[in-house]
Amino acid sequence: MDGDVMATVKTMPASGPEAGLGARLQLIELTKVYGDVVAADRVTLDIAPGEFITLLGPSGSGKTTTLMMVAGFVIPTSGQILVNGEDIAFRPPHKRNIGMVFQNYALFPHMTVAENIAFPLKMRKWPRDRIEQAVREALQLVRLPGFEQRYPRQLSGGQQQRVALARALVFRPPVLLMDEPLGALDKKLREEMQLEIKHIQESLNITTIYVTHDQEEALTMSDRIAVMRDGRIEQIGTPRELYEQPASEFVASFIGESNFLMGRLERRDGHAYLVTEDGWRVAIPDAEDLPAGEQVTVALRPERIVLGERRGENHAEATIEEIIYVGEATKFRVRLLGDRLLTVKQPSRLETMRWQRGERVLLSWRAEDAVLLRGRH
Ligand code: ADP
Ligand code: MG
Repeated sequence: MDGDVMATVKTMPASGPEAGLGARLQLIELTKVYGDVVAADRVTLDIAPGEFITLLGPSGSGKTTTLMMVAGFVIPTSGQILVNGEDIAFRPPHKRNIGMVFQNYALFPHMTVAENIAFPLKMRKWPRDRIEQAVREALQLVRLPGFEQRYPRQLSGGQQQRVALARALVFRPPVLLMDEPLGALDKKLREEMQLEIKHIQESLNITTIYVTHDQEEALTMSDRIAVMRDGRIEQIGTPRELYEQPASEFVASFIGESNFLMGRLERRDGHAYLVTEDGWRVAIPDAEDLPAGEQVTVALRPERIVLGERRGENHAEATIEEIIYVGEATKFRVRLLGDRLLTVKQPSRLETMRWQRGERVLLSWRAEDAVLLRGRH
């Protein structure tokens, strides 16, 4: 399939000297205020040509507002949007040369697939024969050749979304924006489309901002993820950086799951410890810049805790309170001394299946499995 996409890309018509090349896209202190709501709060992003960036955050965190300002459908209160260094913040949408896939497909229901895809080209006054060829190639790109004469209502949800993507890409924009494009699809199809969109994006090398509230989708597709909260970017990094080194409780619990431990930093014999209020000492990675005695929080991923074995510097006895079987993994809610609850996640194996509710177990983990949180809480 990859080979087909590449072949198609090479024959697609160029729409300008930079066709096929993603643009550098910079958002600088981009802000939108509605009354007393700051929907986007000094959003700053520097996106490299061809990079795939995802805005990830809960509902109401400012993702759509940010995207709509880049697309030109929302006028910024302040800030700049630079495409290859040129400020486009106050240009109308159709003069921005940006492809957009909306949340709810927004195909024109009374137009055929071909007419839908041709629409942006007609707006740009392309000659008819070039339009026909471009539509055909765009349909090949999204693997719907021969669908020209269908109407949107004759297509499945996944097919409609491919047409929306074809329409966004047909004029070969250097920037592509997508707002929760897969939200209406079922899980299996969504996962297929994630990879397909990613492959098309890579083959065109088109600079992309993708919006989702689904952390798995963000981890699967993105070069970098910007986690948004209350209109602000809380943290930005590669999927791995965000998962392994979350800066705040918000990020550590929005991307994956985490246990949190709070206490004072203590140093002894060259090792660092977190000491809880009730005197529990937990080995943690050291943070040289923090003074001993400082109040700290660490995040500990459930899958980093080992059940029934002693591995690493930290170990404790606990009682299994709940067992949640989720297929490939099993989650255990365990209670430690001092009424502390932790979540432990283990791959489902015969050994893990033997554990029973109410049983006493040993847990352990390494100091370096805990991540010291430094962002706002
Ligand atoms: P998201 O896409 O992350 O769910 P939005 O960008 O849609 O978030 O919304 C961010 C905030 O701005 C929300 O509090 C929302 O209610 C508010 N908001 C968005 N659009 C408008 C608007 N046109 N008028 C007033 N408030 C708005
Ligand atoms: Mg939205």
